[in-house]
Amino acid sequence: MCGIVGYIGHREAYPIILKGLKRLEYRGYDSAGIALYDGTDIKLSKTKGKVADLEERLEKEISTTGTLGIGHTRWATHGVPNDVNSHPHYSNSGDLVIIHNGIIENYESLKKELIKRGYTFKSDTDTEVLVNLIEDVKKKEKTKLGKAVQIALNQVVGAYAIAVFDKNKPNEIVVARLGSPLAIGIGEDEFFIASDASPFIEYTKNAIYLEDEEMAVVRRHKGIKIRKIKDDSLVAPYIQELQLNLEQIEKGGYEHFMLKEIYEQPSAILDTFRGRLLSNEAIIKMAGVEDNMKKFLNANRIIIVACGTSWHAGLVAEYIFEDLARIPVEVEYASEFRYRNPIINENDVVIAISQSGETADTLAAIKLAKSKGAFVFGVCNVVGSSIARESDAGAYTHAGPEIGVASTKAFTTQITVLSLIALRLARAKGTISSSDYRTHLLELELIPGKVKTALESDAYVKTVADIYKDAKNFLYLGRGYNFPVALEGALKLKEISYIHAEGYPAAEMKHGPIALIDENMPIVVIATKKGHYEKVVSNIQEIKSRSGKIIGIVTVGDKQVKELADHVIEVPETIESLTPLLTTIPLQLLSYHIALMLGKNVDQPRNLAKAVTVE
Ligand code: GLU
Repeated sequence: MCGIVGYIGHREAYPIILKGLKRLEYRGYDSAGIALYDGTDIKLSKTKGKVADLEERLEKEISTTGTLGIGHTRWATHGVPNDVNSHPHYSNSGDLVIIHNGIIENYESLKKELIKRGYTFKSDTDTEVLVNLIEDVKKKEKTKLGKAVQIALNQVVGAYAIAVFDKNKPNEIVVARLGSPLAIGIGEDEFFIASDASPFIEYTKNAIYLEDEEMAVVRRHKGIKIRKIKDDSLVAPYIQELQLNLEQIEKGGYEHFMLKEIYEQPSAILDTFRGRLLSNEAIIKMAGVEDNMKKFLNANRIIIVACGTSWHAGLVAEYIFEDLARIPVEVEYASEFRYRNPIINENDVVIAISQSGETADTLAAIKLAKSKGAFVFGVCNVVGSSIARESDAGAYTHAGPEIGVASTKAFTTQITVLSLIALRLARAKGTISSSDYRTHLLELELIPGKVKTALESDAYVKTVADIYKDAKNFLYLGRGYNFPVALEGALKLKEISYIHAEGYPAAEMKHGPIALIDENMPIVVIATKKGHYEKVVSNIQEIKSRSGKIIGIVTVGDKQVKELADHVIEVPETIESLTPLLTTIPLQLLSYHIALMLGKNVDQPRNLAKAVTVE
């Protein structure tokens, strides 16, 4: 996920693009760059860091004149954030220049082909492969840029929003979209291109939002031609009048970043397994795992170190790894692990999980584990972060920037990555049958759609939130794979609504928390069909006989819990190990609505910081 901006018209492009990038920085902020056409040539400047760093550098480096340009603020997926990997990227001839938001899944095979044809690459990005593919097609087919982009994109698997121009045809920008957003602002004889409308809202309220698999050639003085990438058919432009203000646009029309991020989960999960899960071939491809397979297979045990929500994802992973790959797992709070003289050696594999990749305790735990000879595998969202650099190997979650302090999409994408690893190891160890393995892969592929369905409960969750928003305490219960989800649900509520909440394994209730239950106590019970269903139903009976208020998270079509509970929220059915990816959704929504109804600051709850970089 990143921000892209482009301009073609009668004004100076640079100030428009620069301001636009600043507005899009919430979408990515590890590096930035701008390419301008100054009337004779392309002038390009890019740098690691924020847009402000770019501004400082660019104005010393290049002239800022020109009425055509493109700019990018990056959220790295392929290659660390450094100057070279920053966008825009040139093609080999230097004629074409591109910005890209998304992931080209088949970039490796395309790159190999291009290398055979004599192309060279400066960066590690998938994007540089795409611009050279376009150049190659353009030369081979002796065709215009628009056509070349279309042919090239038909060879690409993945997600993209791109803008590209040719210095020999400096009166047009070609844009295209599949899976990543792209809007075209239409002014008086001028056009704006951007990931959302925030960069151009003060210039025009008229915009076209490209649909997936559409591309457009945007021509100076001439207008826009939109086509379907696949079949070349022309699309009649649908111009919308924008009603949103700047802040609403940045939040994608959602009231808060947290809600936006909750709703982004279907696409975030898809981005996590994009290019890694090849269900047709029944393959999981993760270089960090593949290259270190021996380490994993020979490990005596896996120790997971993490904090907060990531620790909960680690607990889910414990169930998955032990269940599927039969590798013993211990899950540790990084802050405890680092200070308790743990017994650890070169036969251990440590998996460190952190959204930001900067969590101080997790970083310290990694250093300790490495000093004892253990192999450390990092699972982070932020590419090139300290944990990513410190780890021996790793896998990114590719969830895109998470701005809301209460983690949502980071949790589900961490579980997705960890599931992929567990499945790959299970296959290598032979602890999973090939039919079970296939079922898991196919089911994982269906998860984004099922998360979308789970999100449909939003309106009903809101009515439940309204009933219980004044409760002083909440209990969250779950068993097996859904025990960590209960912990995570309770944490979400605490974090943003400041209501005291506890998560427990459902059966542990009898050993203490049951004493808390009375008619004022709401109890969220995760009672999906797979996984100890009957046992959880018995726990619900026990709550009911003590007059507790039961909010059941159930599998669609459930009857038994419905009869007992005060409210049930349905989620789609899936295999047991993947249920956390669905059951966690209504719990995120419940905490969001309660916090909002109580007038709390959902995105920036008191006392909390997004990345905990201190101990
Ligand atoms: N995959 C591209 C990269 O790593 C684009 C990432 C983005 O969307 O910012 O550079």
